[in-house]
Amino acid sequence: MLNILIMGPAGAGKGTMSELIEKHYDVTHISTGDMFREEVKNNTKLGQKANEYMQAGLLVPDELVIDMVVDRVSRKDCDNGYLLDGFPRSLIQANVFDTKVIGTSRDISLVINLTVDQELLISRIENRRVCKNCGATYNMLTLPPKQEGICDECGGPLYQRKDDNRETLEKRLESYRIETEPVLEHYRKLNLVHDVNASQSIEKVWFDIERVIDNYLYEQKHKEDK
Ligand SMILES: [Zn+2]
Repeated sequence: MLNILIMGPAGAGKGTMSELIEKHYDVTHISTGDMFREEVKNNTKLGQKANEYMQAGLLVPDELVIDMVVDRVSRKDCDNGYLLDGFPRSLIQANVFDTKVIGTSRDISLVINLTVDQELLISRIENRRVCKNCGATYNMLTLPPKQEGICDECGGPLYQRKDDNRETLEKRLESYRIETEPVLEHYRKLNLVHDVNASQSIEKVWFDIERVIDNYLYEQKHKEDK
């Protein structure tokens, strides 16, 4: 089993790395945002409850969020492992989740923490352009479209999101830090956290992640052999 939490601020490349991990290690990628939308769409019991809060403009309570995540990772498609993205968001969520999965096949194997230089992150996001038509993303510095302002995929117009500016980003990074620091500290104490420098090239970041996961799998195998 290979159960991973992936953490990192928006723009650190979590999406790209999650896709690679999912493909390479045959684990199920669960983004909590998608999970919520799915549960509501499928009108499950938990989805209905969560929807009541969202409709009322309230935050979905921790207990409900945890129940949804535990329910989701318990499904058969996670037998080989899961990759959780966007959870836990607080120390309470982490603590309760731990007690529910500890000693089971859903126990956390690794926490991959993507760290990124703040200035680099800001530059990346300020240079981000998105296709109005199909949502494809570009970067004017590292991944520009073939023709300026036009999507390679569909020919649609590219634009810069209103929130993709320094001020918004600095605020978002700060609240991300405040939110996740206790969670990271908690998992550090359990020796689960592996920091990966996400300021590097995609190839190098992937190389480092692969090394972390392969080391873990090797150790697990060694333990079983004993
Ligand atoms: Zn497009």
